[in-house]
Amino acid sequence: MKNQHLIEVLEHVKKRNPNEPEFIQAVTEVFESLDVVADRRPDLIEAGVFERIVEPERQIIFRVPWVDDNGKVQVNRGFRIQFNSAIGPYKGGLRLHPSVYSGIIKFLGFEQIFKNSLTTLPMGGGKGGSDFDPKGKSDLEIMRFCQSFMTELARHIGPDCDVPAGDIGTGAREIGYMFGAYKRIKNDFSGVLTGKGLGFGGSLARTEATGFGLCYFTDEMLKANGKSFKDQTVVISGSGNVAIYATQKATQLGAKVVALSDSQGYIYDKNGIDLDLVKQLKEVERKRIKEYINTHADAEYHEGCSGIWTIPCDIALPCATQNEIDEAAAKALAANGCYCVSEGANMPSTPEAINVYFENNMLYGPAKAANAGGVATSGLEMSQNSQRMAWTFEAVDEKLHDIMRDIFAQCDSAAKEYGMPGNYMAGANIAGFLKVAEAMKAQGCV
Ligand code: NDP
Repeated sequence: MKNQHLIEVLEHVKKRNPNEPEFIQAVTEVFESLDVVADRRPDLIEAGVFERIVEPERQIIFRVPWVDDNGKVQVNRGFRIQFNSAIGPYKGGLRLHPSVYSGIIKFLGFEQIFKNSLTTLPMGGGKGGSDFDPKGKSDLEIMRFCQSFMTELARHIGPDCDVPAGDIGTGAREIGYMFGAYKRIKNDFSGVLTGKGLGFGGSLARTEATGFGLCYFTDEMLKANGKSFKDQTVVISGSGNVAIYATQKATQLGAKVVALSDSQGYIYDKNGIDLDLVKQLKEVERKRIKEYINTHADAEYHEGCSGIWTIPCDIALPCATQNEIDEAAAKALAANGCYCVSEGANMPSTPEAINVYFENNMLYGPAKAANAGGVATSGLEMSQNSQRMAWTFEAVDEKLHDIMRDIFAQCDSAAKEYGMPGNYMAGANIAGFLKVAEAMKAQGCV
């Protein structure tokens, strides 16, 4: 990074957020792409856009007390970050995972600003969650936690102010409990959460959207470079919402997905993953991925997550969590012939891994563009709620497909315009940033 103003703002971010490495990592990546924008746009420097965009508009941290099945009081910490509302109400998911702390929520909220901007829909950036671990909890414990969480969160959200959604650990069940609690507290039936059940305002295709959208984006990127999913071997990490529907769409597009994982290990099935079984294990029975080999004798199970990147493949779709591909994993992918990495998870590649992709001329689809299909479809759910209408699966899927094509086109053309053709990471950062920056400038110093 050469632009003096950006160097100074980044230094300030580091000093102000000393114990939040994920947030600093996310800001550094975006600023490196914006070097050339800062050079060309002194008016944005003058308007203080760079200083303002790295500081959340509002952060809420709160106590979440709940009673477990043994009658014992448990206390978790809840977070909501309302990062930027320049182009629309705050929008972003709620993560329930023991690793959650302010640095994770802040990096996710920051990324969300640019992702939401790329979707072409009017949504600002937000994120939230808790260090609550849903694993091993009973249904009633989950419900009591969600109700307590919403007791505080309800004061800060609303259909025209801030609309949370799911993320790691927050699926349809948790959104249902939170929606019920919100409705009771506020006496208001509105589209205040997305990812709702189909019977009470949810959108068809929202469940599939992030995984499908990832494949639509990747397909565009492959086509622009003379390739396609057809007959390609694909490795996908995770076995949650994003991974499952990425597997389904990649398979529909002609690829063979040979591996999936969870936080304990990975499975390799050279015959292609049996997705019906994975859905049964993960969505219905909530079991570990290793159970897969009980009915598939040909498949292998390996403890630990990182080994999945040593499986030879053409295309890798990381769909589990942040920083899951480090430099060594990226080198292993490149050495085994992988030519494309496209991100379903948020920030799954370390900066060193991204360097390896570029050094090896691999196609790289960055998360904020490639996984934007989830939030885009949440935006479509908000539209349906406002209209009091429900669109068909096909109508939503078609809109999602159009949006992902558009996102790829924005990344491609911004990369070209700013002298970095084929660098879709730079293209995504620049295109996402410019729309928000223009709005911030137009609205004055707020
Ligand atoms: P889920 O909770 O449905 O699934 C997460 C998967 O990743 C599980 O298989 C989980 O394994 C695994 N995982 C979680 N944490 C770790 C870890 N520390 N190490 C290894 N594996 C881990 O979440 P989603 O599928 O919804 O989200 C996956 C990623 O996609 C996240 O980065 C999320 O932010 C991102 N994303 C999700 C969107 C959505 O619409 N759901 C939208 C855009 C991005 P286990 O079950 O063992 O914990």
